[in-house]
Amino acid sequence: MPPTPRDLQALRNDIAEAIRRSDFREWSLRRSYTAADEVLGVVAADRATTRAAALHEAADVIGSEDDCGCGGCDACVLNKRAADLRRMADEITAN
Ligand SMILES: [Zn+2]
Repeated sequence: MPPTPRDLQALRNDIAEAIRRSDFREWSLRRSYTAADEVLGVVAADRATTRAAALHEAADVIGSEDDCGCGGCDACVLNKRAADLRRMADEITAN
């Protein structure tokens, strides 16, 4: 389940607070929040990469070696679904 905006706001507050209690405590509040936003950006990118990898894995599982091309048999339908999953993965990593 993706985090809600409220979860992300609470996490952002916690990160900024942790920065202000650390060796970076001389940082301004604004700089602490900028750093927290950078951390959240890394987390979001990592989450997207993980999701894309899972979609590729699922595509590999359901895709068939059979490239018959008739469009209606089980192999063709599953190959189309696998292509859909790979397209979704590509869209995630393109953003
Ligand atoms: Zn076919």
